[in-house]
Amino acid sequence: MTKRFDIVIQGGQLVTGNGIRKADIGIKGEQIITVESNLRREEADGVIDASGKYVFPGIIDVHTHPVYEDDLGGLALSAAHGGTTTVIHFAYAKPGMKLIDTIKKFKDEGAQKSYVDFGIHGALFDPASQIEEIPKAFDLGVTSFKMFMTYAKLKWMTDDYHLTWAMDVIGQCGGLTMVHGEDGLVTDYLEDRSLKKKEDQKVVFLKTRPDDLEADAIYRAIAISAVMDCPLYIVHISTAKGAEVVKQKRSEGLLVYGETCPQYLSLTDADLQRLGPLAKIGPPLRTDMDRFALWKSIQQGHIDVIASDHAAKDKKPNDPFFEAPFGSPQAETMLTICYDEGVNRGRIHPSKLVQVLAENPAKIFGLYPKKGILDKGSDADLVIFDPSETVTIQAQTQHSRVLYSVYEGRKCLGKPVLTMQRGKVIVENGEMKAKPGEGRFLPTKITKVKC
Ligand SMILES: [Zn+2]
Repeated sequence: MTKRFDIVIQGGQLVTGNGIRKADIGIKGEQIITVESNLRREEADGVIDASGKYVFPGIIDVHTHPVYEDDLGGLALSAAHGGTTTVIHFAYAKPGMKLIDTIKKFKDEGAQKSYVDFGIHGALFDPASQIEEIPKAFDLGVTSFKMFMTYAKLKWMTDDYHLTWAMDVIGQCGGLTMVHGEDGLVTDYLEDRSLKKKEDQKVVFLKTRPDDLEADAIYRAIAISAVMDCPLYIVHISTAKGAEVVKQKRSEGLLVYGETCPQYLSLTDADLQRLGPLAKIGPPLRTDMDRFALWKSIQQGHIDVIASDHAAKDKKPNDPFFEAPFGSPQAETMLTICYDEGVNRGRIHPSKLVQVLAENPAKIFGLYPKKGILDKGSDADLVIFDPSETVTIQAQTQHSRVLYSVYEGRKCLGKPVLTMQRGKVIVENGEMKAKPGEGRFLPTKITKVKC
């Protein structure tokens, strides 16, 4: 006889954006078919005991770079071990590359290799030659596009003319512009001047990227997006001043989303001085004052999303600092670090954590309520989190191909113990049970929701 449920998750504390309650989850096929108290074990083929643990919606990581040491498969592997069931990757259309070809390549690679469901943002490195392809990307399910306002020397920077043009096109198509808000030309001058003086680039790293310049770039991006009537998403806000601009402009009614990352919420320039190139990321790790302000912005709802900015690059502690690339592995540790820094230290309620790690990203990118919530009719994407288990973060036990973590040796209370995607357990007790290619492509849709 077929039973009512394939699996029941029993006895857990369910956390959603609205609060916490004790309830069971009944799953049939790929979906949650009911959430209620005291479901009967006999009605299910399998029971997962979640008593004493939290059940969160699967984490949705909307800022990942699968183009370095971890590809779409490797990144999904890391993410799933950290409780993530959906990722949205940046498809890097470098200068000379076609946007549409790049998106197709990422979709194919994900279909072959991804363990988790995935979406794609276009990343335009050369908008002058790529803007005209933007409308076609919508037909492929890609509706969000990132540009850099920095990295001028690397030739990744978009100038204001092309930023405006791109926002014009993206806005008309109903999409979302995403920007890395720093002032590339000023940064380059400050860096060049410092190099001439032969200063230690690690010591002056923060000084050559002042917080006012992040705030200024964010202000400029918001102003242009308002003129072009295009929704805007600021990736990895790192400063108190940057967050303040977003707060101010939102209070004026503008549609701008704010994102920050675990590294800006947990580390500072002191960690850069200690870790050297391993902690070289852009924007840089800031000060405690900035970090606390970012937590406050999350509490107050001016920052909507925490995402990992996972960019796994091969670096060693003694590599020359100036030549070292930007980025660090973050996907696997994101939930644990944010829970430890946010919930254990009393900065946010678990409900808020779920909002910024699952519910809001699902809403912004049109995946809600299929993803981002534990409710009847939603995909059975979830993570069981044990708040009483202590974990010591070590690169050695992580799944990224890079051999370091910026959190090496850090003790955290709380860890994901089971990750489920669409009704199937994909990670349990640190073991991957899914196969590459089981993740599905998710088209995005910009909803213009206010989080
Ligand atoms: Zn990034």
